[in-house]
Formats: sequence, structure tokens, C-alpha cells
Amino acid sequence: MNQNSKMEKLVSLCKRRGFIFQSAEKYGGLQGFWDFGPLGVELKNNLKKSWWQRFVQERNDIVGLDSSIITNPTVWEKSGHVQGFSDKLIECKDCNRRFKDADLDGSEPGPLKCPYCHSEKITKAKDFNTMFKTFVGPVEDSSATAYLRPETAQNIFVNFENIRQATRLKVPFGIAQIGKAFRNEITPGNFIFRSREFEQMEIEYFVEPKNDERWFEKWVVESHQWFIDLGIKKENLRLYKQPKSELAHYSKATTDIEYNFPFSAKGGEKGWAELMGIANRTDFDLKAHDFIYKDENNQEFVPYVIEPSAGVDRAMLAILLDAYEEIKGGRTTTTESNKEVEVVLRLHKSLAPYKVAVLPLSKKEQLSKPALEIYQNLQKHFMTAYDEISSIGRRYRRQDEIGTPYCVTVDFESLEDKKVTVRDRDTMGQDRVEIGDLMEYLDEKLTE
Ligand code: ATP
Repeated sequence: MNQNSKMEKLVSLCKRRGFIFQSAEKYGGLQGFWDFGPLGVELKNNLKKSWWQRFVQERNDIVGLDSSIITNPTVWEKSGHVQGFSDKLIECKDCNRRFKDADLDGSEPGPLKCPYCHSEKITKAKDFNTMFKTFVGPVEDSSATAYLRPETAQNIFVNFENIRQATRLKVPFGIAQIGKAFRNEITPGNFIFRSREFEQMEIEYFVEPKNDERWFEKWVVESHQWFIDLGIKKENLRLYKQPKSELAHYSKATTDIEYNFPFSAKGGEKGWAELMGIANRTDFDLKAHDFIYKDENNQEFVPYVIEPSAGVDRAMLAILLDAYEEIKGGRTTTTESNKEVEVVLRLHKSLAPYKVAVLPLSKKEQLSKPALEIYQNLQKHFMTAYDEISSIGRRYRRQDEIGTPYCVTVDFESLEDKKVTVRDRDTMGQDRVEIGDLMEYLDEKLTE
């Protein structure tokens, strides 16, 4: 499958089936803003749940935080964002479009050109601060200016002492946060890859300065493993160690986990682009906010910070692209399926929006009544779909397309033997299961 068309098909599937819509589509949308529909919100929640379970719930050295989006602007002055959270903005004098220096067209020797109309008549790059500004309170003057946070990290740093005291955690320990971040990106695009409102999953992990390199390596390995455990194909992931020239001013080392996206994220060749970054931020942030740490021997020092920082939306896009598979002519030999291109979203079971779908073979009350009963019982335990419209083959394919791992079919035999057929999305294998054992059967299958 052509990679560009894969992206187009995924975007269309996301809209058609209710994963992702353009925000305010009815009014022409707003560039860089997206709404997550019924299936999108489930997938997103499952992704965040998986991260929280792995990095907070199952560890005794990391605790969570949910801080405010707007805070005292001094935070952003001390952190350096007011002065320096900017991109290089360039304007084309021919087509009047604006873009980042990173987007410049350098495909041919000679001067860099506008990436849209390829004109050489472009302005010099100037700094453009990408923080969104707003006002707190009824007066719109500079003393009331505040910012929508461009990352979740800073609110973690300013809570360092509160959390240390409340939890009595000792270095090494971490604070995790999932939440919205806002950046007035010059060139949002590639669907949800680069938006102006997005979500981050960040950990600030505080270590003794002498142990920073060991912890940094550990976090690269653990973060990479988490993506693999979520089912992303290993060959579509790579680690990119940033050379010194690319490092942010506060970073001693940064490794990005990149995904092989079917588009170019920064102009030029399509392919590898950042999914998450792991940075050794040294003592830059705790120093900036004037924090100090005293260990059990009364030794004072400023901890170093290792920061694994991932984007929820970007991870979701990579997961969807990785799971998307088309099978020409279908997977079965029925004439109906033979005519079509079948789509299977091979999502990891823990991420699938619906875990199971209940499908009575016929709409007749004789079958729909027991099927609805099964549906209502399963709903208490799993996100469950119910569908009795159109042929069973079509209904299987509707579920395959949104990644539902199991379909439960209630047929006329079920009335006699009190069993149902459970079909597996990936193998299409079918098991006949006692209705009384169904919950346990699915629970086992979904967690294996
Ligand atoms: P990029 O170089 O792509 O702009 P970045 O290096 O500025 O990203 P970070 O500040 O390290 O990104 O943010 C951590 C993570 O947040 C990124 O790895 C990415 O997954 C996500 N992220 C950052 N900016 C955006 C955005 N505009 N839209 C969606 N996700 C984003």
C-alpha cells in the first residue's frame, strides 16, 4: 500500500468511525485543533491508563500529579519560556505564507526556498514565541497576562518540595503527569502529529547528579520497551541520539524515540520523526526555581532531572498507523468479502476501544433478547458493542475495522445448548463457549 494513501485512508477511517474529528468542522474547523469521538476517547484513555499503570501504579518510586493549565506567569519567566520558547518564523514574500526555518526547502543546491511556492524571496528568520497568552481576571492589561502551559513539566518542578514533603520520597524518585499542553505552532499539520492543543505524558525523575547517565540510559530502555509492549512493530521504532548541535540549552543528552511515519514531519524525506524524547535536563530546572534537596546524611545538592516526555496524540497516531492493515479480496471466501478490501485494525487488546461485540445472528426477538442480556452483563466489565444490523460477515468486518478483539455470536443453537461462538479478530478462529463461562473466558483472553 502506498504510504501516503495509508495516511489518507486512516484519516478517513478515523472520521467515518468516530475516532477523530476536526474541531468545529461545522464552521470550517480551526487549524491544529481536533476532537476525539466515541472511539477516539476510548483509545486515548486506554493509552493513558497503560502508561499510568506501567510508570505510576506498578512502581514505588513515582507518584502522580494533576496541576493547573494556567498558573502564575513567574513559572514561565523562571523556566526561560517567556524569553526563549520560540520557533524561527519565516515569511514568503511571493505567496505570503508563514513557516518555520526547519520547513525550508533545501532539496536543491543554492539558496533555501519557500516550501510551498519554492520562491527564493523569503524574509530572515525571526523569533516567534509559541506560548498562548491569555488574561486572568476582568482587566486585560499586562499585569493580568498569563499563559496556557506549553508543557506539563514546569508545574511538576514547582511542586517538587510539596510532593517530596507529602510523600517522604527520597532521591531517586519521580513525578508523573498526563495533561494538556498548548503551543501556537507555526505549521501544525500531518493530522494529529503536530497540533496546537495536545496532551503529554511526562515524568520528571530526580536523581543524584553522579548517577544521571545510568538513569538516563535506563529511561531510554524502559520507554522504548513500553512502545514495543503496546504492540508497535520494532522495525518501525528507532532511537535517535541528538548530536550536541541539536541539544536544547539545558540538556546534557537527549535521545528521541522515533516512529517511521508515512510523511515528512520537518520537510525533506518522509519517515522517522519524534514520538517521544528522553532528556537529561541536569539541575537546570530545580536551580531555576530555587530548590535544593537534603539527603539523609544532611548533604545538600540540587538533583539532576531525567525527563521521559511523550505525546499522547502522537503515540495514538503511531499506534493507529501501525495497527492498520488492508487485505485485498478479504480474509474469507464469501463472495461478499471477496469484492472488498478488508481493513483490520490490529490494536493491542488493552488499547482497543471496544473489547467485545455481541452480534445476534438474526434481529428476531428470539435471538436479540438473550443477546441483549449477554450484552448487558458484559458491559459491566468491558466496553462492549452491540450490533444486529446487516449480515454477520459485514458486522464482523465493521468490528475488525475498529479493532474489536472478540465478537460473540448468538445463534439459534445457543437457545438449545446455552453456548455462543466467540470469534478472534486476528486469527478468525472460533470457540464455542458456555454463556455462563463467557465473562471468565473473555477476561482471560483479554489479559493473556
Ligand atoms: P517537535 O520537535 O516535534 O516540535 P519537541 O521536541 O518540541 O517536538 P517536546 O517539547 O520534547 O517536543 O515534547 C515532548 C513530546 O510532546 C513530543 O515528543 C511529542 O510527542 C509531543 N508534542 C510536542 N509538540 C507537539 C505538538 N505540537 N503536537 C502534538 N504533540 C506534540
